[in-house]
Amino acid sequence: MNLRAGLDRDAVFRSRVVQILAIETAVELAFFAAFVDFRPDLLRVVIGILSLAAIVVAVLARRFRTASHRPGRSLILLAIVSIGCGAFVVTSPSIAVVAAFSLLGLSLSAVALDDDRPGILIGAISSAFALAVITVRGDTPIASAIIYIGLAVTGTFLIIRLRRSLTAARDEAEHLAQTDPLTGLLNRRGMEQQVTALNAVASRAGLVLGCLVLDLDHFKAVNDTHGHRAGDDVIVRAAGVLTATTRDGDIVARTGGEEFVVFAALASAADLEVLAERIRAEMAAQPEPAVTVSIGAATGPAQTAEERSALFDRTDEALYAAKHAGRNTVRTR
Ligand code: GH3
Ligand code: MG
Ligand code: MG
Repeated sequence: MNLRAGLDRDAVFRSRVVQILAIETAVELAFFAAFVDFRPDLLRVVIGILSLAAIVVAVLARRFRTASHRPGRSLILLAIVSIGCGAFVVTSPSIAVVAAFSLLGLSLSAVALDDDRPGILIGAISSAFALAVITVRGDTPIASAIIYIGLAVTGTFLIIRLRRSLTAARDEAEHLAQTDPLTGLLNRRGMEQQVTALNAVASRAGLVLGCLVLDLDHFKAVNDTHGHRAGDDVIVRAAGVLTATTRDGDIVARTGGEEFVVFAALASAADLEVLAERIRAEMAAQPEPAVTVSIGAATGPAQTAEERSALFDRTDEALYAAKHAGRNTVRTR
């Protein structure tokens, strides 16, 4: 579940809401234009044209999915104004009240589409319009207004609660999908997701992006001597050393059993070697069961997949060289 998939899902959701709204608006306006006894005939034509425009919006929403809030918001505002104005000019008071309740649908849709300030503001505008229609045009304004307010408040409350719990569940799922359960570090997927952002920060700040690949030395022996559980504890401890040695904005990931990757934005390639050496020394200074680490280091851009892959190839080569040089050492490419 990556960011891209999240955006796609948002875009599908928004395009569906926009479609439903556009169809609702088109039907409502067509009903006004066809059956309602307007005084000026020109109004009927204008409302008919707006209804056709809403059908065009429904078709476009299907073709051009976007995670942007703008099309949905614009459509809701258009529908509020046209249905609201229609409600003021229709001759039958009961039709006006029906229109007021369809403004309730628009108000709830605005909140469903986005529950932060603009969504709630548009919902409030729609409700204010509806209450004005009920008060000015309705037969039983007080009763209708009480029912309306009750429905609007409960509907809005329920939608906001539902939306917030869905967002929280999605954030939690996304966090779990990017996290290694044993150490709490990022996993490979989480690392991939954050590295382009760190790369952008580095290039904006005129820094170099450094990459370390770390592999614990003779780790099989730890498992064989002390057992798998103790091996796990050593992995967790290594993760702690990495987190403590790096800075907040750096990326620390567990990419394999006893393999880790660090990305850091640094002033120079020399700083990367200093960081790698600090990690190596800190690992070697840990209490029993002591485990050393071999580290491959390289700097370079990591914006595109090709650049990342080239950077990983160089750090892997460097790690291989570190293992060959006898382990517990840093090599740079
Ligand atoms: P080298 O210095 O060449 O890296 O030697 P090594 O023994 O570390 O080499 P290798 O990569 O072949 O072995 C890694 C071992 O790590 C194998 C596997 O049993 C162990 N391992 C992998 N994942 C875990 C884990 O999650 N927990 C524990 N306890 N052990 C793991
Ligand atoms: Mg290994
Ligand atoms: Mg190893």
